Amino acid sequence: MSSGGLELKLIQIDPEQIDDEKLLPAAEALRRGQLVAFPTETVYGLGADANDPAAVARIFAAKGRPPDNPLIVHLADPDQLGSVARQIPPLALRLLEAFAPGPLTLVLPRSSHVPDIVTAGLDTVAVRFPAHPVARRLLQLARVPVAAPSANRSGRPSPTRAWHVLEDLGDRIPFLIDGGPCEYGLESTVLDLSTGKPVILRPGSITAEDIASVAGLPVSAVLPDRSDGSAAPRAPGMKYRHYAPRARVQIFQPPQTDREREDLDNQIRALTGEGNRAGLFASRATLDGLKSACRLLDAGAKDLAALPPGSCAGFAYGLYPDPVAASRHLFDGLRLLDRLACDVIFAEGMPEEGVGTAYMNRLRKAAGQAAPVLFVCTGNTCRSPMAAALYNLLRKPSDAPGQSAGISAMPGDLASPGALAAMNQDYRISLAAHRARRLTDGLMDEAGRILTMTAGQKKALLAIRPDLASRIQTLGEAAGLPEADVPDPYGRSVWQYQATAAKLEQLIRSFLEKET
Ligand code: AMP
Ligand code: MG
Repeated sequence: MSSGGLELKLIQIDPEQIDDEKLLPAAEALRRGQLVAFPTETVYGLGADANDPAAVARIFAAKGRPPDNPLIVHLADPDQLGSVARQIPPLALRLLEAFAPGPLTLVLPRSSHVPDIVTAGLDTVAVRFPAHPVARRLLQLARVPVAAPSANRSGRPSPTRAWHVLEDLGDRIPFLIDGGPCEYGLESTVLDLSTGKPVILRPGSITAEDIASVAGLPVSAVLPDRSDGSAAPRAPGMKYRHYAPRARVQIFQPPQTDREREDLDNQIRALTGEGNRAGLFASRATLDGLKSACRLLDAGAKDLAALPPGSCAGFAYGLYPDPVAASRHLFDGLRLLDRLACDVIFAEGMPEEGVGTAYMNRLRKAAGQAAPVLFVCTGNTCRSPMAAALYNLLRKPSDAPGQSAGISAMPGDLASPGALAAMNQDYRISLAAHRARRLTDGLMDEAGRILTMTAGQKKALLAIRPDLASRIQTLGEAAGLPEADVPDPYGRSVWQYQATAAKLEQLIRSFLEKET
């Protein structure tokens, strides 16, 4: 491929009609300790014989991966589980029956046969049974467990097509099997079953609800990493910047009104007017609604030349809100827009429900954003939307974004007239586009901090989600003023709303000061 590097053997395999003759050299290479990049239903993996520490070390070297970030062991058959896991809880078997082969990784107590380098020295091992026919056949032919992370340079978007792997590792690996685009496009759900209680360490296409329905008990997500990497990560690898294209990624909410569409157009024009290249990863409707000239890309496009300076390109993932389609195309879209040399990529947000939780998790990391601060009140029409808006006004752009939700909100309710007036008059903030949303498990799982307006609301949240106790506080507590409940101005005069806004401002300023 490239000068001084390894000669790469590219093997094309039709997943519908697998030719063993073509696959065998790659399987034999695995057995000899060489690296093989291969398609799975999630993303492309970079595999090595999990029993051979020297082979596994080549994965870390090729990717530039930090040694404390463990790998997932890929197996062809659940019968092999005993060779890597010391103990297999009954719940593991039930989940495997429901979801294997497929995009679910289980973290289990590790067997002593598994080399340290695979698990980064942890006492647990992550195991998965890929469903992709090419991955399955490769594992069967190789007859060894295959340790594999995603086949990208560390920190970059995961590869979902063969050319993504070539772009990152083309001159560093001897084998790449091209089996076409990946079905899910996001890495597997990682579920920790090594402690008494199942915990999702990385959200994926198999959702917390999917798992809970089989487990018969609620499944929570681990505390997201702090942006500074200070908190000891329960899921190793979470502390690193991930999935990042070269372009700066900016998340936007899909415009619903003419005013919001105009805002998006203005942001694009501000960029392109200065000679920057803008990219959009968005739904068809969002791209169709743009007034700015925007070149549309196809999912299969590659080998694109840079855009002319001052222009804009858009990648449509499908229809809003389809988190499955958005997930499938996210990394491809980010890489394509990078190929076009975009300076900024505007990427469309999605409701954090079902697969939307996993999509937003990756998108946020690609944008380098910390987990959001979620402000919670009852109806999500007064205090919490005011709090989120004030927080977003006062925070630094690098701080975690602010969001809001209500414990018993009526979804779609508008901000109350008093809140609109107070925010307009005192802060020049418009809450006109605000729509109430109800607090969900997904929103709480993805939030880094959950701040309620009153002690009563905090108590209510702790009762529903005791597992998230470390994230739930009243805003007063988070601000270092623990006695302060934020008074409810609902239905009162505008000056009551103004007093509430002033109180919120005071608490948020002191919260921001304490945090940074
Ligand atoms: P990658 O396939 O590149 O996304 O990397 C595998 C990921 O699996 C790691 O970053 C971890 O998040 C997770 N993982 C692997 N082994 C373990 C383990 N023993 N405990 C917890 N998480 C793990
Ligand atoms: Mg990865």
